Amino acid sequence: MTVETTAPTDGLTPDAAVRLYVDNAARAVGLEDDVAQVLGSSYREVTVQVPLRRDDGSLLVAQGYRVQHNGARGPYKGGLRYHPEADLDEVRALASLMTWKTALLDLPFGGAKGGLQVDPRHLSERELQTLTRKFALSLSHVLGVYRDIPAPDVNTNAQVMAWFMDAYSGRHGYSPAAVTGKPIDLGGAPGREAATGRGLVYVLEAAARRWGWDLAGRRVVVQGFGNVGTWAARDLEALGARVVAVSDIGGGVFNDNGLDVSRLIETVAAGGSVVDSDTPHTKLSNDEVLTLDCDILVPAALGGCITGANAADIRASLVVEGANHPVSPAADEILADRGVRVIPDILANGGGVTGSYFEWTQNIQQFQWKEDRFNTELRDRLDRAFNDVAEYSESHECTYRLASYSIALERVARAVRLRGYV
Ligand code: NAD
Repeated sequence: MTVETTAPTDGLTPDAAVRLYVDNAARAVGLEDDVAQVLGSSYREVTVQVPLRRDDGSLLVAQGYRVQHNGARGPYKGGLRYHPEADLDEVRALASLMTWKTALLDLPFGGAKGGLQVDPRHLSERELQTLTRKFALSLSHVLGVYRDIPAPDVNTNAQVMAWFMDAYSGRHGYSPAAVTGKPIDLGGAPGREAATGRGLVYVLEAAARRWGWDLAGRRVVVQGFGNVGTWAARDLEALGARVVAVSDIGGGVFNDNGLDVSRLIETVAAGGSVVDSDTPHTKLSNDEVLTLDCDILVPAALGGCITGANAADIRASLVVEGANHPVSPAADEILADRGVRVIPDILANGGGVTGSYFEWTQNIQQFQWKEDRFNTELRDRLDRAFNDVAEYSESHECTYRLASYSIALERVARAVRLRGYV
């Protein structure tokens, strides 16, 4: 049985929310109806059953999903998420976001996403590995170096990608380029692990240059202290910003003088929560963290955390979307009316898929770049994307979100027509 569990945010499921953003841009660019019909749904949606015999002898049957939204610009590309609430509606939304993100970053990919409805915190390492291998084999017929290339996302990491790649390669021959976000020893790209959070900071630096901002001394709040949040916090602290609060699933920590990001990372790396850290702090709830007085708020956990219910209370002057779809359409309007700038997910967290693109090209060439080159190319691509969006927003007097979607939609629409899909 397919379970759709996505709790609506402001009455909209994640897919409905992303559709609203796409529809706004479609109207703004005057997208023709025939192309709009093709882009309005996914190309392929696969639902698989992944049974696992657990260590205690009981049976767990996880639902898995892979949605390929549009592949006009290249092979489908997108992460795999392991989460108890992963469902088809959200995976659909995330696949569509990948189509727009890869187009905005001008990468030769389409958009896809995968999810496995499971809580990996309750699995042993053997169980996680077995489940990952079975998931890879059950999807392998729709994946491939020039067909669809998975990557890590929430609750998946380089080790999970290594198992996934190994299972895929067992059936199709050694295929490092079939998966990105792998460990360096297996063809992973030095720089890829940091690329999403680091890229977010590159985008912020480009914004600061354009707006005449100084990032040093800015008060920063980061919600979600995983891959994206830790790298963003570390790099912002290195630029002289003051990280005053961070949170994870265990709660939030606050220090008006700035938290010690390295100490927080040590605690999390040892398997703890930020609330266990010995950096001096006051504890806050996850909701309180979002509405703290700060300059820059980086939601870097899950979608739907800034809604019509709390958007009026956001005190940041800039929201940078590290997570995918953290701001609902109702909240987006409230923030825009209040003059709060938002750098949207498809731009702000585009460093991850850009890094995956570098890894994919290096695997195909059987060649490895040094990390310096990776970071230089990453910054260059993100600078270009940011400046495209800023120019579009200024010339069309629209938000960065509408500008980002409009640029992406026009690029994908051109590819759809050129390939003769309609
Ligand atoms: P992760 O699993 O490494 O970290 C997620 C973090 O969010 C953890 O610290 C977790 O404790 C925290 N969290 C979960 N629920 C929370 C809540 N209610 N309140 C506060 N914190 C909470 O995941 P990640 O890879 O860092 O991804 C984070 C977000 O960034 C996701 O939306 C993901 O889709 C997006 N993203 C990730 C990448 C990537 O390369 N990893 C790329 C682009 C976008």
